Formats: sequence, C-alpha cells, structure tokens
Amino acid sequence: MSAVPPSSPLSPSVRLPDRADVVVVGGGLAALCAALAARQAGAGVLLLEQAGPALRGGNTRHSRNLRLTHDAPGPLMPGSYRAEEFIADLRRASKGDGDPALHALLATESVRLADWLARCGVHFQTEHLPYSRKTAFFLGGGKAAVNSLYATAARSGIDVRLHAGVAAVDPLSSSYGSSSGLSSGPLRVVLDSGAAVQAGAVVVACGGYQANPDWLAAEWGPLAATLHNRGTPHADGQVLRHLLQAGAQPSGAPGRGHLVAVDGRSPRHDGGIVTRVDGFGCGRVIDAAGTLLTPPGETGPPRYSAWGRRVAAGAGGRAVLVVEARRAAELPMRVYPPLPCATAAEAAALAAIPPQAMEAALSGLEPPFLLVPVHPGLTFTGLGLTVDPALRVQRADGGHWPGLYAAGMIIAPQILGSGYIAGAALTVSAVTGRRAGEEAARYVRS
Ligand SMILES: Cc1cc2nc3c(=O)[nH]c(=O)nc-3n(C[C@H](O)[C@H](O)[C@H](O)COP(=O)(O)OP(=O)(O)OC[C@H]3O[C@@H](n4cnc5c(N)ncnc54)[C@H](O)[C@@H]3O)c2cc1C
Repeated sequence: MSAVPPSSPLSPSVRLPDRADVVVVGGGLAALCAALAARQAGAGVLLLEQAGPALRGGNTRHSRNLRLTHDAPGPLMPGSYRAEEFIADLRRASKGDGDPALHALLATESVRLADWLARCGVHFQTEHLPYSRKTAFFLGGGKAAVNSLYATAARSGIDVRLHAGVAAVDPLSSSYGSSSGLSSGPLRVVLDSGAAVQAGAVVVACGGYQANPDWLAAEWGPLAATLHNRGTPHADGQVLRHLLQAGAQPSGAPGRGHLVAVDGRSPRHDGGIVTRVDGFGCGRVIDAAGTLLTPPGETGPPRYSAWGRRVAAGAGGRAVLVVEARRAAELPMRVYPPLPCATAAEAAALAAIPPQAMEAALSGLEPPFLLVPVHPGLTFTGLGLTVDPALRVQRADGGHWPGLYAAGMIIAPQILGSGYIAGAALTVSAVTGRRAGEEAARYVRS
C-alpha cells in the first residue's frame, strides 16, 4: 500500500496526491476515527475536511458526552450499563425503526471505545461532575477531543487537508449507478475545486444537511425560515445528495431531524449548546398566533429537548416564553438576557403577537414580565444512507459499490430512526467510524 506523505493541513494549495489507499470525507469524530483506524491497520490515509482550521471538527466540536457500555463502575462512569440495556434503550428510542445489527455493534463495540479513544489522545472527565451512569464526558468538551484527534492524525502520518470540500465520489468503472451488477473499484473522489483523487476505498463521514437552506426549505417548508442550525455551517449534504441521486438506498425520511428549543436571537449556524432555552416550567409559552402551547394548569415537558418540536408545531414555527419578572431567579443561566416588558401589550409588540391574544394568554399573571424568544434548533437531519454491518454503502437495487463505506451521522437515521437518546450520536460516529476505517483498510489490502 502506498504511504501518503504528510503535508501542512493549513496549506490547501499544496497539490493533492493523485491517489491514496483510503480517502476519508469529513473531519468530525466519525471521519477522524475512520482515518485513525485505517492508518493503524496500515493504510495510507487522506482526510478531506471542508472546514478551515477554526471550524474543523463539525458538530463534534460542540458535543460533550458519549454513551458507553460498561459492566462495572470505573473512573469515567458509576454503576454498570450492560449491552442488553443499551440495546433496549436504542430499540425504545428508535421506536422499533433502528437496525438491530447496528444496535448490537454500538452496544458491543462501545465497551472498548473509551480506551481506544484515550490511546488516540482523547481525555475524559473522571468522577467529578457531571457523572452519569450511561455516558462519559470529554474533558474540555468536543473541541478538545477534536484537537487531540487531529494532533494524533498528524503524528500518525495521515494526510489531512482542510478547505477540501468534496463534491462527489464516483467509481472509475462505467457501471456506477446502473442497476446491473456491481461496479468494480477503485473510486474517484472529486473536490469542489475540480481536483480529483483516486482511492482504493472511501469512507464518507460528512454528516447531514442541516446547514443547507434550500434542501431544508424543500423538505420543511415555511418552518425552514425559523430553524437554527445548532452546528457546523459546513453540513451542506452535498455528498449525501450525490450518492442518493446515484442510487444509494436511503435511511430515515425527508423532513425528519433532531430539534431542541433555542433562543430566537442565536446565530443561524453554529450557536452550539449555549443557545438552548430552558426553564419552560417558570412561565407560559405562546406561539406566533398567541396560542398557549401549554394548557392552563400544566407546565408541559420541562426539558429544552422536548420543546423544539412543540415550538416547531406551533403557529409561525416560533414562540415566546413569558415569565413574571418577580420569578426571574428561577430562570436558568443563559447567554441572552430575557427582554423586560412592563405590560402584556409591550410583550405582544416585542414578540409580534396579536395584542388581544397575548392579553388572554397572560391572564392571571402579574406584570412586569420577562420574555424569551424561542425558535426550533436543528441538531442533525434524519435522512441518510443505508449500510450493511460492514458499513458498506448499500444501493437501492440491492447491490453495493465495492470500497465505499459510510460512518457517523450520515448513517444515523438507520440506527436512531426518528428518536434520540443522550450521547448516542457520538457513539454512532466513533463506533461506525472506527469500524468503517478498519473495513476500508482491509478492502484495499484484499
Ligand atoms: C450543539 C450540539 C451539541 C451536541 N452534543 C452532543 C453530545 O453531547 N453527545 C452526542 O452524542 N452528540 C452530540 N451532538 C451530536 C454530535 O455532535 C454529532 O452528531 C456527532 O459528533 C457527529 O459526528 P460526525 O463525525 O458524524 O459529524 P460532524 O462532527 O458534524 O462532522 C462532519 C464533518 O464533515 C465535514 N463535511 C461536510 N460536508 C463535507 C464535504 N462535502 N466535504 C468534506 N467535508 C465535509 C464537516 O466540515 C464536518 O467536519 C451535538 C450536536 C450539536 C450541534
């Protein structure tokens, strides 16, 4: 196998190699795990990340904790979380829609994951808070983990290219996308710049399309106007779309995604975890038409994670949380200060909600008020690719493209269905990334 010479990741103008054993598309946890695993298996690896140095690492930069199977208490997690319980949690969360073989892969392979990631340079938080039975926390968060993995990748001789957006992955054989038989590799990776690299195997690990406004508008309709993409602005989904158009078998469904409640003043992209809105139990939630989203006498679900979908379903795809000012201390800490309003009429004007409807919605509450604008925040989209247990990308005609693998959130809908459990996304990315990298290296050796 050819060894890919390392080059400066900060120099996108340095000429790309003509070929590499394994090309990894993406630069988050799934891609980094795939690249490191393929390199450890002896392959020459080229990693192509669309973002530049500040935003490399995708949504993984924003993350904190990952779900790990363990049979006994340890420094990272108390108690135990056995494989059967993990599988049962995945089955329940995915509402029976997830792939049992991939559930088993996650549950069994996550046992060794923390040790492997630690050997790759990732540090974990030990028993000091937060200390949860089912998930371990990155020390310093996802950004620190990403930085460590990039450093290890560079030391391992992985050729990392930033500002290297990929437009397409095509087999060199003419049978690509046809319904007759399987094409034979190798594969050609085409960059946005027009440059192309020949690859013995490719792992696509470039996430969903939550940063693509046109695609979101086509699937989510008017709601796309109030959606905030909580993570990387580079999740444009162009490789996903290319492969689906070429005949890949989809997983999940258009218009699905993981939503949470975020502050309406947060940026359209990359606001991260600090933009979330909590404290819904302190006041009333009112949509753009002035309709109460919590029936009188009820506070609704307490967590921000349940409120994204509720706000999205309300009129205008936006809402406000209105709290009596005297209860200000009950609101959790937040980046954006709540907006003070002396009267219901002032709150209505601030929120662009019909004044009479606002008066009715706030009846019985005592002014002055504090107001928090709430929008739905999209963590990841729920349409992806389908893979087999060896992470090979499946075609709708029942075949696959030899040498083409996928990992991470681009295949998560096949595992998570339309549901979610905390920490599962990182486990999906790390476990499937590592396995896809190993399989890709094995394929180029064969
Ligand atoms: C605010 C926030 C907090 C989160 N917290 C958690 C958490 O605590 N626990 C958890 O389990 N999950 C969490 N998640 C979800 C989790 O971060 C992600 O689902 C997971 O890290 C995704 O890993 P990934 O490698 O598949 O994708 P990403 O980390 O998103 O990486 C995708 C990469 O592909 C690159 N890319 C995209 N298109 C192209 C292209 N055409 N060519 C080349 N490169 C491309 C992007 O630049 C990016 O680097 C969080 C997400 C967000 C937004």
